[in-house]
Amino acid sequence: MSAPAAGPMLGASCLCGGVRFRLPQPDGPVTACHCRQCRKTSGHYSASFDLPEAALIWDSRETLAEYATPGGATRGFCRRCGSSLWFRAADGGFCVEAGAVEGPTGLRLAAHIWTGARGDYYRISDALPQHEGPGDA
Ligand SMILES: [Zn+2]
Ligand SMILES: [Zn+2]
Repeated sequence: MSAPAAGPMLGASCLCGGVRFRLPQPDGPVTACHCRQCRKTSGHYSASFDLPEAALIWDSRETLAEYATPGGATRGFCRRCGSSLWFRAADGGFCVEAGAVEGPTGLRLAAHIWTGARGDYYRISDALPQHEGPGDA
């Protein structure tokens, strides 16, 4: 567990603004997940980064809703505008959807996971590592 970042915080929100939070600058990569769940909840695939859930500072949870997945995880989203916001794995691991961040993230996409479950209507055309399952990404 790392100490809270001393630097400036990034802002994040859903599309309608009903959910707003701040987070310290993440230092890890962004991972694209092509699994069935991310396909359904995002409409395509998700891109997220790991962050301890306790590092989030909530400014508004007015429209925050949670969906318990069959696998024991929880997905946070806005019940008004539908934005996907975060994912809490069954083991407590937590990640934030990169697209929820306002302005530059300073992050880079580093890998694709669950590529075996991606939709058949596109090809992954970058040279980043691809993992059929969750792998080690
Ligand atoms: Zn919203
Ligand atoms: Zn996924």
